[in-house]
Formats: sequence, C-alpha cells, structure tokens
Amino acid sequence: MTRLPEFLQARLAERRAQQLYRSHKTLAAAPGPVALVDGRELVAFSSNDYLGLAAHPEVIAAQQRGAALGAGATASHLVNGHFAIHQQLQDKIAEVTGREAALLFGSGYMANVGVINALVGRGDTVVQDKLNHASLIDGGRLSGAQYLRFIHNDLDALEVQLRRAREKGTGNILLAVDGVYSMDGDTAPLAQMATLCARYDAWLMVDEAHGFGAMGSDLFPHAGSVAAAGLDQDSAPIVMGTLGKAAGNAGAFVAGSKALIDYLTQFARTYIYTTGMPPAIAAGCVRALELMQELPLQQTLVARIAYFRQRAAVLGLPLEASASAIQPLVLGCEKTVLRVSEALQASGYLVGAIRPPTVPAGTARLRITLSALHSEEQIDGLLNALNSALQREKNAAGEAS
Ligand code: PMP
Repeated sequence: MTRLPEFLQARLAERRAQQLYRSHKTLAAAPGPVALVDGRELVAFSSNDYLGLAAHPEVIAAQQRGAALGAGATASHLVNGHFAIHQQLQDKIAEVTGREAALLFGSGYMANVGVINALVGRGDTVVQDKLNHASLIDGGRLSGAQYLRFIHNDLDALEVQLRRAREKGTGNILLAVDGVYSMDGDTAPLAQMATLCARYDAWLMVDEAHGFGAMGSDLFPHAGSVAAAGLDQDSAPIVMGTLGKAAGNAGAFVAGSKALIDYLTQFARTYIYTTGMPPAIAAGCVRALELMQELPLQQTLVARIAYFRQRAAVLGLPLEASASAIQPLVLGCEKTVLRVSEALQASGYLVGAIRPPTVPAGTARLRITLSALHSEEQIDGLLNALNSALQREKNAAGEAS
C-alpha cells in the first residue's frame, strides 16, 4: 500500500526522468497566428484554427449576441437545455456535411466515447487503426466489445481483422478511424475501407476532427475527408466532427441519417447526461460555418499548405506524406525535438513538440499546423529558423561523434 502523496510524487518523478513531463504554455489571449507567450509575440504554427475563424470579428460578435440568450444552457439537451440556436447549428452542420441530420456533443472526446458505446457492446467487435485518436481508443475499450487493431492505414491488415471478427460470431462490427490523423496529417484510405465494410457487413465511423472545414468535395467543400473520398451517407454512415478546430470554437457533432441521430439521442450517454452546449458557442459556430461557405478560406489554406511543402522541399526538410494542414517533421529523439522547438521559440515561432505516449516511441516530432491566416513571409520565416536549428543539431551531432 502506498500513501496518495507518495504515489503521486513517484509517478511524477518517473515522468520527469523519462523526459515526458508535460506542462502548459500560458498564452495571453491573441487568437490567430500570433500568440503572446510570456509577453513575447510568437507566430503560432501550433493551433488547430485552420481557417482562422477563432479570431474572426463576425464570429466573436455572433457569440457575444448569443450570450444574451443566457450564459449557459442550464440543463441537458433532453431536459430544458436545447434552444432554437442549437437546432439551427445542427441543421447547418447537416447542410454542410451533406447528411440528413446532426447532433451536438460537448466535445469530440465525448462524442467518440458516446457514439461507440451506444452502437457496440459485449458480443460485438470494434476495429480500429493503431494510430487512432485517444478518444476513439478509450471509447472502444470502455464499450466491452472485442477490440481489434490494425497497422496504420494497412488495408490487408484491416481485412484480416474484419474477417476474424466476422468468423467469430454474429455480433455487429464497427470500424472506427480518423479521417485525417492528428499527429501525422495523412488521410485514411476511406473509399477502400467503405468497400471492405460493405463486404464484411461492418459499420464505418469516421472522426473528421481535422478534416471538417479543411477539405471536402465540389458539392460539399467543407464536409471533410469523407466527402473528399467521394463517400455519401450510405457508404460513410457515421461522421463525427469537432467544432474546436477548423470552426475555431468548441464542441462537436455527429452527422448521419435521421435514424442514427434519433438513436444517438436515445442511447448516447455522453449526450444525455451532460449539460447542453452554451448557446453563445452555438451562435458563434453558426456564423463560423456560414463564413466557411461565404469566404475562400479553405482555398487560402490549401495554397498555404502547398507553399509550405514546396519551400520545405527546396530546403531538403524531412516532410511526411501529408496533404492536410498538419505537417509533422519526425525527428525521432525526444530531446532533439525539445531543443529544436525551444530554438524556434527563441526565433519567434511557436511549434508543438509531440512526444510519446502521444506518438509511438522513437517518433517524436514537431507538429507544424498551417492556417489560412499565415502569410507566405511567416512560413518562410519559420522554415528558415527551422533549417538553421536543424543544421545546428547536425553540426553538434557531428562534433559529438
Ligand atoms: N479526435 C481527434 C482526431 C482529435 O484530434 C481530437 C482533438 N485533439 C478529438 C477527437 C477530440 O476533440 P475535442 O478536442 O473536441 O474533445
């Protein structure tokens, strides 16, 4: 038996010794591409505000007007916390995603846990990509369903697991994947996955946290990776998206058929047993989604991604195969990643240093995220600072050997 204070101190010391101890950076307001850290202005390449909507004056004004409806929803959605503005947001999400209906959740984490647990349980199987977001993994583990994983984006490995699940019994199979991987920026091969789901009678659930707003199809330009892969409501029946990334706000949604939304309203415990979204957030999100449709923000983001990749390639930086706003540079060693991110901060750039257990051991990385608000000059500045820092690392390694 260990006393709680000693238990806590021992685990914290272990974390520090492993160089894995995490702490916050405290920012002083300033949304957009500039962050104020310890009184210094840094150009942030670390936020998920891909379209710059968190700082948009019309979103902020709509949110302020929304606050006049009350600071909070005062109850869960099914009691008396569901206002007309929530319904308006759900209808807008359904329109943008090309689905019949949508349902709001307090966060993406809650949406993933709630949806998986509502759809599968003991006797069923949930199949997941090994690099899925923690909220999908936790949802799957909590559900009591058999939990099977497959090598990241490997369709043969996925088929092995689907076959195994189907041969084992008559339970339902849910395949849950990220549409865009949050630490790698690559996309799931969704069209082929939908074909496999049809073959093995499995249900496809796609987490669009990083796809919604940032990519789509001609018909549904903001619907995410599912639309980009050409999938409709039949082939990708369960779409989860967050409002804290490209929409620049907070909260999440599930979009799908009317029957799916009706079912989740009855059975998703993280929807039922929690206070409704504050109406001001719903009001800000409605305006943000309208602005997505009205302004060429996504085109600007796509142009910035192309510019970043082209300039980084010229400098010979180790780019990953990512067409999304997430452009990681995998450096491997945790200490190197920390040193390079500190050097970048000293040069005026804020970039996330991502280490295990968020990513697999030996794949520590800088997670560079692009926004429609970044200028080409800011991107050039980051890349030059990065190039110098990496050059210094190389020289230091040369001297040490
Ligand atoms: N899924 C993915 C892929 C994510 O990256 C995140 C956020 N980091 C979530 C779900 C959780 O969303 P939220 O922040 O709204 O809880």
